[in-house]
Amino acid sequence: MSAIDTLPPLRQVIADHGLSARKSLGQNFLLDLNLTAKIARQAGDLSQCDVLEIGPGPGGLTRGLLSEGARRVLAIEKDARCLPALEDIAAVYPGRLQIIEGDALEVDPLAHLTPPIRVAANLPYNIGTELLVRWLTPPQWPPFWQSLTLMFQREVAERIVAKPGSKAYGRLAILAQWRADARIVMSLPPEAFTPAPKVSSAVVHLTALEKPRYEADAAILSRVVAAAFNQRRKMLRAALKSTAPDIEDRLRAAGIKPTDRAEQIPLEGFCALAREIART
Ligand code: SAM
Repeated sequence: MSAIDTLPPLRQVIADHGLSARKSLGQNFLLDLNLTAKIARQAGDLSQCDVLEIGPGPGGLTRGLLSEGARRVLAIEKDARCLPALEDIAAVYPGRLQIIEGDALEVDPLAHLTPPIRVAANLPYNIGTELLVRWLTPPQWPPFWQSLTLMFQREVAERIVAKPGSKAYGRLAILAQWRADARIVMSLPPEAFTPAPKVSSAVVHLTALEKPRYEADAAILSRVVAAAFNQRRKMLRAALKSTAPDIEDRLRAAGIKPTDRAEQIPLEGFCALAREIART
């Protein structure tokens, strides 16, 4: 097994810097650098790209991204304990790693990035879905990113790629598939992480489409889909009662039977409904 760089193995980095994993920060670290390099390769050709990484932790994936040739990596990490380890990586890749200490939900990374931009991260489970939804629902499209390569709990990954009629189909599937191609590209057992979480994980790769598959306002679509799936067992006329006073008419105008349930409605139907609701 050849080393991907001249830095110490991650187990040693963790011991040297006292990086005992904190559950509150969703810390499940990847220590196998061959695995992190493999994840980095799923992000595509990085040589001409700036890569945004959320939650680098001790830097396993960061090292993978850099050794795989990323032009630059901007890493946002909330846990100050990780910064010295990340600075050690920056020293080995001069000018190619910028570290920001902060909360990814609050820091605006765009000022520090030059397009084209790709996002790659082993996300903290407690903010992963929120970040994904934000990246998928800006008012304008295309977004700042070309692709997202993200580790999620397996169950969340399945929700992102789910098709209508399945149990996993819901808000995440619709928002992801509306504006991107989404695929599960890797599956990882709990033992791939330290400490091992209770569940399996998967890497999802999303490529931004040039334009959304169907026209719709992002905020309205997001609101409608959230309401529809919040009460997924109810008929849509009941689940969506609060979204418009004449919801039955609007559902019919969008080609949807008011007695249907959210699970049965394809992406195209939700976009048509969002357009109907936008008509005041
Ligand atoms: N990338 C590392 C790896 O693959 O081994 C660590 C992944 S670990 C699942 C998630 C990382 O996100 C941790 O390093 C944690 O400290 C960091 N984190 C948690 N909440 C964060 C937040 N709000 N903003 C930025 N980083 C956060």
